[in-house]
Amino acid sequence: MNASTAHPLKPLSSLLDDDHFHDECGVVGIFEHPEASNLAYLGLYALQHRGQEAAGVVSTDGQEFYNHRGMGRVADVFSAKDIKRLKGNRAIGHVRYSTTGDSVLRNTQPLVINYRHGALSLAHNGNLVNARELREELERAGSIFHTDMDTEVILHLAARVDGKDAGERLAAALSQAKGAYSIVALTETRLIGVRDPLGFRPLVLGRLVESGGYVLASETCALDLIGAEFVRDIEAGEMVIISEKGIESRRPFAPVGRRMCVFEYIYFARPDSNLDGINVYNARKRIGHELAKLYPKDADIVVPVPDSGVAAAMGYAEATGIPFELGLIRNHYVGRTFIQPAQSVRDFGVKVKLNAMPSVLKGKRVVLVDDSIVRGTTSAKIVNLVRDAGAREVHFLVSSPPTTGPCHYGINTPDRSHLIAAQHSEEQIRKLINADSLGYLTMDALYRAMGSRETGYCDACFSGDYPIFKEIGAEERQLRLIKEG
Ligand code: SF4
Repeated sequence: MNASTAHPLKPLSSLLDDDHFHDECGVVGIFEHPEASNLAYLGLYALQHRGQEAAGVVSTDGQEFYNHRGMGRVADVFSAKDIKRLKGNRAIGHVRYSTTGDSVLRNTQPLVINYRHGALSLAHNGNLVNARELREELERAGSIFHTDMDTEVILHLAARVDGKDAGERLAAALSQAKGAYSIVALTETRLIGVRDPLGFRPLVLGRLVESGGYVLASETCALDLIGAEFVRDIEAGEMVIISEKGIESRRPFAPVGRRMCVFEYIYFARPDSNLDGINVYNARKRIGHELAKLYPKDADIVVPVPDSGVAAAMGYAEATGIPFELGLIRNHYVGRTFIQPAQSVRDFGVKVKLNAMPSVLKGKRVVLVDDSIVRGTTSAKIVNLVRDAGAREVHFLVSSPPTTGPCHYGINTPDRSHLIAAQHSEEQIRKLINADSLGYLTMDALYRAMGSRETGYCDACFSGDYPIFKEIGAEERQLRLIKEG
């Protein structure tokens, strides 16, 4: 037997990351700082949780554009030499988890084009639901694409339309697009930020106190790392154009009402970020309080599935007085691939990342808190890990409502047939994951924790209320309707 067959390198995601909705992408933009590319790189470190497949920075000195992109995490992609080569006072950066297009170097961002108006670079968080139709139209009209990403569609559209400046051209391009986009764009003289009319994905504006420059970023945690002051959130449907003249705010799209992704608060965003005025950590703790009202348990300890279940578990413990314990320890240093042992080990995949502590769990009635159950495969393994460590009872609480539909707005999700809550009743799921009881957050409780439903959220993967429908061909639509009954 050849050694490479005995110890195959397995992609980690295939073994244990497949039971979560995956983060999308993160973007950052720096305007006027002598170390713009270095700040963009640091900003990407803070946004690493939004995408670990690829990273890139594009900078400009007003004449040339410099770019460095690569596969992997920020730490793997950039060396000090790479950063030094990224000259200029302005830069944009991107971390990627692929939602459209294969995970290959060709599909990394920011993208840069040279067109009749100069250069334009773009980094995009989100997903266009009509990208395929737009691309087919563009290809029929002679456009040649270099990537599989919907982001390139925006660039092609921007190159074709008229407008007095890059902001107008970008707005004209985006008015043909439907879907989710929080974008940072760079021209020779401007940094542009734009959030789609529904504002699915976050985007914030900050100020670099010392240089007097500005920052755009997906989340406020990126501002904190580079010492920038938070100025405000970019609003749904707003475009900001930052130039030497200052900041100009435009409203290029017809107002339709905000539908910010509520899952950002439950799972995607970092707990230390504030999104549209709400602190993520506090929102998660309030969700824990709501779980406590819904499911008061006779239990000895509350244990989070780290890291995403931690704040909700703390909230549950706070509200019930049941002690909070770290009964599961997460290994944060697992790379993207590892060498699988020749002999199979039970629950091997999940054990690489999580270890259950018998000293905490033995003989205990445990309330286990996680952010979601997607396929149910990992949840079952985690419950078994906790049982194997000696827990007497395992009560599984989920800090989101049942995920019954896929996301079309920039989150990588399995289709309905693989979503356990779309296919099974709660009692069936409880049995499948081997828990003594199972409780999901209700929609009403979710919005009590968020403060109000009226502010406008997308909750389509829980409710089926999709703010924008994915464009699918008539035949495909028909088949789907038949299949879904
Ligand atoms: S469908 Fe779900 S994950 Fe997607 S934007 Fe809406 S709430 Fe967020």
